[in-house]
Amino acid sequence: MEPSELLALDAAHVWHPYAPMPGRVPPLLVEEASGVRLRLADGRELVDGMSSWWAAVHGYRHPVLDAALAEQAGRMSHVMFGGLTHEPAITLAKTLVDLTPDGLEHVFLCDSGSVSVEVAVKMCLQYQRSRGLPGKHRLLTWRGGYHGDTFTPMSVCDPDGGMHSLWRGVLPEQIFVPAPPSGFGAPVDQSYVDELAKTLEQHADELAAVIVEPVVQGAGGMRFHHPGYLRALRELTREHDVLLVFDEIATGFGRTGRLFAAEHAGVTPDVLCVGKALTGGYLTMAAALCTPEIADGITRGELPVLAHGPTFMGNPLASAVANASLGLLADGQWQSDVTRIEAALRQGLEPARELPHVVDVRVLGAIGVLQLDHEVDMGVATEVVTAEGAWLRPFRDLIYAMPPYVSTDADLAVITGAMLAAAAKA
Ligand code: PMP
Repeated sequence: MEPSELLALDAAHVWHPYAPMPGRVPPLLVEEASGVRLRLADGRELVDGMSSWWAAVHGYRHPVLDAALAEQAGRMSHVMFGGLTHEPAITLAKTLVDLTPDGLEHVFLCDSGSVSVEVAVKMCLQYQRSRGLPGKHRLLTWRGGYHGDTFTPMSVCDPDGGMHSLWRGVLPEQIFVPAPPSGFGAPVDQSYVDELAKTLEQHADELAAVIVEPVVQGAGGMRFHHPGYLRALRELTREHDVLLVFDEIATGFGRTGRLFAAEHAGVTPDVLCVGKALTGGYLTMAAALCTPEIADGITRGELPVLAHGPTFMGNPLASAVANASLGLLADGQWQSDVTRIEAALRQGLEPARELPHVVDVRVLGAIGVLQLDHEVDMGVATEVVTAEGAWLRPFRDLIYAMPPYVSTDADLAVITGAMLAAAAKA
């Protein structure tokens, strides 16, 4: 079929994320993706600055990942996980336990990040019930957060001006506190911590858990904060008998310069959610890991099972490609790549400080952000970045990139050049 026919069918039938139906801005038709490049049907090639939303850390068509997938497809593509198990999922669970902060022992494999947040919250609420504390069923979170698009995650996304404010009144009412002061290197503000302590104490009887994105708040605003706030949260949640959930769906697997962002703070949460880069961006898979205390508590409870059973749980293809992706991370090369990307983003984005509408330039690990003083026109910004040879997805007042770890210095120059061009035209 001709590209124009495909795009006409897309416009007629395919509902894209956060888009009206029919769509207003026609999407770009991708024919192939290889390394860090997307090849479009019109022959253009774009350097992917988005890693398909934090996921494709090794780039596309990686030979090791392709081979793992083909090999697994030759054995078994899927079997149900209730009552059956298999080597790829067992290896994956053990590897995740080994790689994540000490103390997380049990792994629930899910099929998307949002579902892993659902499962994490279910674990926390069920644990509190099993202790005879059903009143502890609410969540506390920071404003400006983003945890996914199903109902429980939506309830802990920022309720004001966020993506899900439409649902106020329908979603469970959670407790919001201001996000920590911005800046990975900014000193910890003790008055902020004191306020947090007061709120936690005040709500301790109704709180099952605190859930936050550690170090980087992603889709809610691409803000960074000092890891000290995570240490404070760990102490306060222990003091007030509240569980702590870290959503590392975006930050996990090296993106912030540590394998997990929790490592910047040296703390272990009670539950950890991972996803996105887990399979190197190949297939949809996520996981919620928890401590033995939570698992034992649930098992001792009135309903001694975690009542959750996704059809595609532990999918062997996704597990096998996740094992291959984690294998690629095992030699530690990712760390020097992320350090190199961080330096290139810092240098490449520095000139943005001179641009009239840029109010902040921030870089951490393989994440670069330009914040503007007004919202960008997504159509215009997309035209500018693609003309510069890059694929980026500016939104609201942000032009940002999180490139694959295999991006070369030349690829990164294309990405930062496109970000500067978009900011200059905004
Ligand atoms: N949490 C965070 C921090 C995320 O960035 C995302 C995805 N953008 C999610 C949860 C939801 O993951 P998924 O899109 O796989 O459902």
